[in-house]
Amino acid sequence: MSITKQLFFSTVLTVSVVFGCATTSPSKVGGFNLVSVDEEKQLGDKFAVEIEKQHQVVNDPEVQAYIDRVGKKLLTGVDKVQFPYTFKVVKDESVNAFAIPGGHTYVNTGLIKAADNENELAAVMAHEINHVVARHSTQQMTKQYGYELVAGLLLGQNQNQLAKLAADLFGKAGLLYYSRDMENQADYLGVQTMYKAGYDPKGMSTFFQKLQAQHSANPGKIAQFLSSHPQTGERIQNVNEEIAKLPPKQFPAVSEAEFQKVKAKVKGM
Ligand SMILES: [Zn+2]
Repeated sequence: MSITKQLFFSTVLTVSVVFGCATTSPSKVGGFNLVSVDEEKQLGDKFAVEIEKQHQVVNDPEVQAYIDRVGKKLLTGVDKVQFPYTFKVVKDESVNAFAIPGGHTYVNTGLIKAADNENELAAVMAHEINHVVARHSTQQMTKQYGYELVAGLLLGQNQNQLAKLAADLFGKAGLLYYSRDMENQADYLGVQTMYKAGYDPKGMSTFFQKLQAQHSANPGKIAQFLSSHPQTGERIQNVNEEIAKLPPKQFPAVSEAEFQKVKAKVKGM
């Protein structure tokens, strides 16, 4: 290739890299998605059955009532609730929560143990709920595997594949990678959700800071929630900037006793 051609192509490449990676606005929800809302609900229900075979769901009525209450309170801070969200606690020591298509949201016992108060727990749940709000999982699934796979799963063509995918994508492996923009968006919308629902969004920032500090001591336990890019330091900074833009608000007191009771119960499991 001639020098001029090389220069031309490298310029084109640079320009497209610069513009191609332009960060989309985190407030913009509902981009192109091959999977319809109805299909996502059906897919989510199928995945939920598999997830609950693979993870031990905590069946304690008090813990269940508590996580339902926190989840429902957070949903009051979501502008458009288009999925029938469910909230469950699963027995898993890693500090994590995950939401699968259609709004089934799972909180690990390890997350409840690591949080110091309800606000911090709500922060991670708000992040996960907003991956669902923005429909990130189906967007990524079709990107990674193509729509044919989703269509096949909906038709119930391959039960083994469904089980394997549930484990690969949403289990410990966590192979469903969200882009940097998606993580930033879930953080951004999570802050808005907390604020509107009556949780002080500073809980997100303080919890990220704590996790970052603990990460060096025990990387394996916290890896999954933090390993996703962007870097935790950058996330904390972004979250703080978004919080600073919000009008000052007096948040109603959150019952400390109830959280501690649930935490103690979970610790004993
Ligand atoms: Zn995330």
